Amino acid sequence: MTQVFNFSSGPAMLPVEVLRRAEQELCNWQGLGTSVMEISHRSKEFIQVAEEAEQDLRDLMKIPSNYKVLFCHGGARAQFAAVPLNLLGPAKTADYVDGGYWAQSAIKEAVKYCTPNVIDAKTTLDGLAAITPMNNWALSDDAAYVHYCPNETIDGIAINEQPDFGDKVVVADFSSTILSSPIDVSCYGVIYAGAQKNIGPAGLTLVIVREDLLGQARKELPSILDYKVLADNESMFNTPPTFAWYLSGLVFKWLKEQGGVSEIDKRNQAKADLLYGVIDNSDFYRNGVAPANRSRMNVPFQLADASLDKLFLEESFAAGLHALKGHRVVGGMRASIYNAMPLEGVKTLTDFMVDFERRHG
Ligand code: PMP
Repeated sequence: MTQVFNFSSGPAMLPVEVLRRAEQELCNWQGLGTSVMEISHRSKEFIQVAEEAEQDLRDLMKIPSNYKVLFCHGGARAQFAAVPLNLLGPAKTADYVDGGYWAQSAIKEAVKYCTPNVIDAKTTLDGLAAITPMNNWALSDDAAYVHYCPNETIDGIAINEQPDFGDKVVVADFSSTILSSPIDVSCYGVIYAGAQKNIGPAGLTLVIVREDLLGQARKELPSILDYKVLADNESMFNTPPTFAWYLSGLVFKWLKEQGGVSEIDKRNQAKADLLYGVIDNSDFYRNGVAPANRSRMNVPFQLADASLDKLFLEESFAAGLHALKGHRVVGGMRASIYNAMPLEGVKTLTDFMVDFERRHG
């Protein structure tokens, strides 16, 4: 069978070493004669898994001790509601930076709870999509926090600047970039991320929240979204997604074995350079994002002749290159190249692209 490289934007490829280990211990985990899925989340065995996963994540991300790490349900979209309900307090507004599809989705949800001050950061530079620099973002004085999405998974647009807005609380949706490069956690009040791209299986959402922000939730906030309730209960207020938590813990260990976030950051840069290099060296392929705002995780590209899209997808799939179809709102192709995608996968893709261009260009 041809080796498959899965370029899905999420749920996405997981490290094969992690899958093999999970396979090995699936039916008889830690000699208990059951799978990890079948034991109580309150058993000492699972508590150990949970604590180790948190510690490994803390080590990998260098999370300061005044931050809580919450293992939640509901995906990043649940956080679109949890953030305003936990953080607004008596404020009537929050700053929401619009840089693309997911930032806009967060704004749509926030409108239910406040009147967001929407800052349209989308711009163009030499005809390419770009983001206005942070010091041009018109933040409002009475906003409870500023929310933005550092990596737009669909648009393939990244905001790489580090936020520095004085004592403003900064909230960021890191769903598609968490653990792909170093983040200075202390710049943020809340970081959240759905697991299904760079962490583990769908069903788990990570929230990293500064302790002083706990305990000001609106009273109508469902307890299951209340950061303080979750923190007070070590993320076990109700039954957590135990299998996703366990598997994410294995991914954290894998990442440590690879050399941690700084090493994976270098590999991610090499992968992105290779793919954008092939796109930029050709008139056959095109990426419409300004270089400074190009995503290293999600690389959308178009064929100059869109009538070849179908053939490109058919042939690439046959070559073991899966899930390259672009999101329906953007069209064209998109290669998601998260941590688990090896350089070899990107090399196989770029070799295919060069060959496809030679045959059809
Ligand atoms: N934010 C971003 C940046 C995303 O990429 C996604 C999912 N693609 C979401 C939010 C929504 O995540 P979920 O499906 O986990 O709610």
